[in-house]
Amino acid sequence: KQYCFMFGEHPNPTKAILGGKGIGLADMTKFGLPVPYGFTITTECCHFGKDLPADVEKQIDECIKKLEEKSGKKFGDPTNPLLVSVRSGAAISMPGMMDTVLNLGLNAETREGLAKKTNNPRFAADSYRRFMQMFGNVVMEIEHDKFEKVLASVKSKHSRVLDTDLTTEELDEVIVGYQDLVRKEKGEFPTDPRVQLRMAIDAVFGSWSNPRAVTYRRLNGITGLIGTAVNVQMMVFGNTGDRSGTGVGFTRNPSTGEAGAYGEYLLNAQGEDVVAGIRTPHPITLMEQELPETYKELMAVFQLLEKNFKDMQDIEFTVEEGKLFMLQTRSGKRTAAAAVRIAVEMVEEGLIDKEEALMRIDADSIPQLLFPRLDDADKKNQKLLAKGLPASPGAAIGKLAFTAEEVVKRLAAGEKDLILAREETCPDDIEGMNAAKGIVTARGGMTSHAAVVARGMGKCCVSGVSALHIDADKQQMIVGGKTYGPNDFITLDGSTGEVFENKVQVVEATVSGHFQTILDWANEFRRLGVRANAENRKDAMKAREFGAEGIGLARTEHMFFTGNRIIAVREMILADQVEKREEALNKLLPYQRADFVDLFSVNEGLPVNIRLLDPPLHEFLPSTKADMKQMAEEMHISVEKVEHLCASMHEINPMIGFRGCRLGVVYPEISRMQIRAIVEAACECVEKNANYKFGGIEIMIPVVAHVKEVEILREVALDTINKVFAEKKQTKERIPYKVGVMIELPRACITAEEIAKVAEFFSFGTNDLTQTTLGYSRDDAGKFIPVYLEKNVYEKDPFQALDQTGVGELIHMAVERGHKGRSDIHCGICGEHGGEPSSIDFCHRAGLDYVSCSPFRVPVARIAAAQAAI
Ligand code: PEP
Ligand code: MG
Repeated sequence: KQYCFMFGEHPNPTKAILGGKGIGLADMTKFGLPVPYGFTITTECCHFGKDLPADVEKQIDECIKKLEEKSGKKFGDPTNPLLVSVRSGAAISMPGMMDTVLNLGLNAETREGLAKKTNNPRFAADSYRRFMQMFGNVVMEIEHDKFEKVLASVKSKHSRVLDTDLTTEELDEVIVGYQDLVRKEKGEFPTDPRVQLRMAIDAVFGSWSNPRAVTYRRLNGITGLIGTAVNVQMMVFGNTGDRSGTGVGFTRNPSTGEAGAYGEYLLNAQGEDVVAGIRTPHPITLMEQELPETYKELMAVFQLLEKNFKDMQDIEFTVEEGKLFMLQTRSGKRTAAAAVRIAVEMVEEGLIDKEEALMRIDADSIPQLLFPRLDDADKKNQKLLAKGLPASPGAAIGKLAFTAEEVVKRLAAGEKDLILAREETCPDDIEGMNAAKGIVTARGGMTSHAAVVARGMGKCCVSGVSALHIDADKQQMIVGGKTYGPNDFITLDGSTGEVFENKVQVVEATVSGHFQTILDWANEFRRLGVRANAENRKDAMKAREFGAEGIGLARTEHMFFTGNRIIAVREMILADQVEKREEALNKLLPYQRADFVDLFSVNEGLPVNIRLLDPPLHEFLPSTKADMKQMAEEMHISVEKVEHLCASMHEINPMIGFRGCRLGVVYPEISRMQIRAIVEAACECVEKNANYKFGGIEIMIPVVAHVKEVEILREVALDTINKVFAEKKQTKERIPYKVGVMIELPRACITAEEIAKVAEFFSFGTNDLTQTTLGYSRDDAGKFIPVYLEKNVYEKDPFQALDQTGVGELIHMAVERGHKGRSDIHCGICGEHGGEPSSIDFCHRAGLDYVSCSPFRVPVARIAAAQAAI
C-alpha cells in the first residue's frame, strides 16, 4: 500500500488522508502555483508512531530521491545541499498544537556548502542556528527557553537588539552555545540528514498525542480523526536578505469579514518569526511598496485560491530573492461576524448559493453577535483567576457583590456595574440577578438555576467555577489563595467561562445587515418553528425582535418574585385552609393577569404557551428570621407557627417531590387562579381591541407522569375557562385555546398514547427529562459532568446537548405513541436543548413541530433549524 505521495500525485486526494496542509499543497501544485516540491506521508501512518513499517521507510526514501531529482539538489551534499521542512497537518487544523521543523539537512559541511552556493555565509549561519534550535526543541525535547537564553546572551554581549542584527561571527557563537547546550542535555546533535529526517518524522507523528493537542481536540470537540499527516517539503528561504521574506495572509478579514487581502509579513525572516512577536510584522498591504511585483503576483494567487475553494483562505507564503512560493492554503478560522458577512457576500458574488452560505455558519457562534464581548488582545494582559462553565455568553465587568439583596441595595445607593458572586443562585435571587451585570457561581451546571435564568435574561453568566470559594457572610471570594472583596473588580467571559481579575476591555456588539440577511435566508429553508421561553414584556419583545414565532414556555413562577408579590405567594403557601389560600390567590390574580396581558399584547397573532405553577412550593418560603416575622404579622399568626409551617414543607428530594402537576392535583385552587388569570387576560385584550387576533392560547400542565393527572387538571381548566367565558360572554371561536402537557418524565413517554387522548399538545421539557432519564440531578451534575466529559462517558454535557441515544429514544417513542393517541398532536421542545444546534437537528429528524428557547438563542435556533432542513 502506498503511504507517501509527491504533492499532487495522490489519485483520490482527501483531507482525511492527506490532512489539511497536504491537500492544500497538492491542490496548489495542481493549479500550477509556485509550490516548493515535496511529499506527504498520509495520516494512515500516524498510528505506527516510531515503528514505521519497512515499506513506508522505503517509500520515504523513494520520495526523497524524487525530490532530489526535481530540485537538482542532494540530501547531505556539501556542495549543493537539499534542505527540507517537516510539518504536521491533520484534517482539521489545530493551530500551533503540533510540531514543525525547518531547515532540516544542515550540518557543519552542508552549512558551508549553502554559504558558498548562495554566496551568503550569514544566511547559512542563520539557517543553521534556527535548525539547531527547532530540532533541539521539537525533536530532542530541550526547552525552548534554554535556546532563547543562549541567543539572548550573545545578543546582549554584542549589544544587538534584533536577531537580524547578528553578524555571521556572532551567529557562530550562538551555534557553539547551542551545541554545548544540546551536548549537556541530550548528547550529540545528529549530523546525518537521513537520521535527522527520520527523527523529525517520528516527532511530528508523535506530536499528535502530545497533551496540548489532545486537550485542544477535547476542547474543540474534534473526534473521529486518525492522526496527522507529515509534509516534507523543499525549503525556500525568506531569510536570505531584504528581497526575501515570509508572511501569513487571509483572502478576507477573518475578524470582520471585509473583502480584501488581510495579513502580515516580515522581510528577511522565516515562518516562526511572524508569530513569535520579536519583530513587529508589517501589514500585507505594505508589501505593495516594498516588493511591488511579488505583491501583484500574490494578490492574483489569493484570488485564484478563493475562487477555487469558494471560501476565505488562510495562506502562508515565502518570498526568496523576489520569487514567490506558496506554502499553505486552507479555509480560515473566523469570528461569527466575519462568518456571516463572508457567507452573505459570497452569495452576492455568485460564488456559493444560499444553502451553502447557511451551512457555513457555526450556529453556536451566533450569540457572539448579540452580546458585547471582551477584547481578546486585552484578555492576554489580565490575570485569569479561574475557569468555569460558559453558562450564558457575553462579557461582564464589575465589582463583586455576594447576595442578590446586596446588588439591589448597592445599585439603589448609586453604585454601578456589580457582579453577583454566589455559591449558587436560587429563585429568590432573581431581582439581584436581573440588576447585576453578570453572575458567577461556584456550583451548578449548564442548566442550573443561575445558568437558565441568566440565559433567559441574556445576561453573562459563568457557573460551576469550583476554584472559587464564596463566603457571602464575610463578603469574600477566595481564589488561588487570594481574597477579593466588595470593592474589587472582576471580569467574566460568559462565552468561555473565564473569570479575570480586574477589568478587561470590551468591544460592543453590532447587529449588521448581513446578519439580518442570513436570518431571513434561514426562514426560507427551515421546517421547524422557533418560539421563545419568556415571561415578561421585555424578554417577549426581544424574542419577537429576533424572529420568535410566539412563546413556547412562560414559567409563571418567575412572575412571583417581582415587586412584593412574594408576600401574597407566601400567604398562599402557608395557608392552612382552602378559604385562606383562595384569599391569597385572589391577591395574586390581578398581577398574573397583567403579566399575561403583556405576553398577549407583544405576541398578537402568535401562539402563547403558559405553564401552570411548577416548582416545589417551599422554594418560595421565607428563609430569614426577618422574613418569617413579616409573614407572621401579615397573616396574624405567631412566628413559631410560621417557622413550623416552613419546616414542615422541607423536602429531601424536591426535584422529584411535591412539584409540577402534583401541586394542582392537591391544590386545584392554585391552577384555577392561574387559568382564570390567563383567560381574563385574553378577554381583556379583546375588550381593549375588538380586532385583536389570538394566535392560540396554550395552557400547559408540567411534570406529568400519569394520564389521570392530566384528566384531573384538564377538567379544572375546562371548567374554569367555561366559567370565565360565561362571565365575559366570550367563546372558544373568539379566543381559541388548547390544554396540553409537558413531557418531562419517562413514564409520560411510555404512556404517551393514553396521555395524547386527553392532551392537545406535547412540549418536551428536556431539562427534567434528562434529569429523570439519566437520574442525574440537574443542580448537582456540575460536580461530576466535567470528569465524565474528560473520560469520554458523554461527548457533550447531556444537559446542554441532548443525549440522543438515551433521552432521544424516549422522545421518539413519545412522538410516535402520541400520534397514535391523537393524529394531529402538536409537539415542541422547551428545555434548554431547544436552543442547541445538535439537539435542534435531532428535533427536526424526530418530527417535532417547533423548538423553544431563550430569546437570545432564537437566532441560533433559526439557523440551526435551517441547517437541519438543508
Ligand atoms: C424542562 O424541564 O425542560 C423545562 C423546560 O422546565 P424547567 O426547566 O422549568 O423545569
Ligand atoms: Mg421542567
